[in-house]
Amino acid sequence: MNKAVFFDRDGVILELPKGNEAYGFIYKKEDVVIVDGVREALHALKGRGYLNVIITNQPVIARGIVSYEDVVELHEFINRKLGGLIDRFYFCPHHPETHPDVPERALKYRTVCGCRKPAPGMIIKAAKDLNINLKKSWMLGDMVTDIAAGEAAGCKTIMIESLANSRVPKSGNAFKNDVKPTSKAQNALDAVRYILEK
Ligand SMILES: [Mg+2]
Ligand SMILES: [Zn+2]
Repeated sequence: MNKAVFFDRDGVILELPKGNEAYGFIYKKEDVVIVDGVREALHALKGRGYLNVIITNQPVIARGIVSYEDVVELHEFINRKLGGLIDRFYFCPHHPETHPDVPERALKYRTVCGCRKPAPGMIIKAAKDLNINLKKSWMLGDMVTDIAAGEAAGCKTIMIESLANSRVPKSGNAFKNDVKPTSKAQNALDAVRYILEK
């Protein structure tokens, strides 16, 4: 069986949009800025036999801002920037709330689902697809919902400190005080060093 490190995307792999760290979405190529040290971290993990997997909520699709295919294309762009070191991207295109301004093409994504973090659906699917032993794997994220998803899937977890920590997710309130990350780190590279030293 394989082992993996699951990474949240925004605030962990990608810099949050400057000046709008709490609520900014990243969906344009020109807004993609890789966090310092991430490429080195991904490379080190590959060298030690880990799969690198992205696990990200992308409600921009349910909001109708971009299409599903746009996100697939953006992820191919991101992976080229990262030297192809990401083995697989999983993203949740859904959002549970209805909204009057949602365009027609996005309506089907306005639904409760099993993949939107804090649900563990994307991690469970990755484990099946890629034959991953979740007990030997880690989820890294900058929000309580990331940690909750990792815990629910049976992974070890690391909370990455970022400005998004101060953001209180509507759907994540119930998890705010419940998560107990295995460790905390300043950024993805520090987290990966911790994993590889263990
Ligand atoms: Mg994040
Ligand atoms: Zn979903």
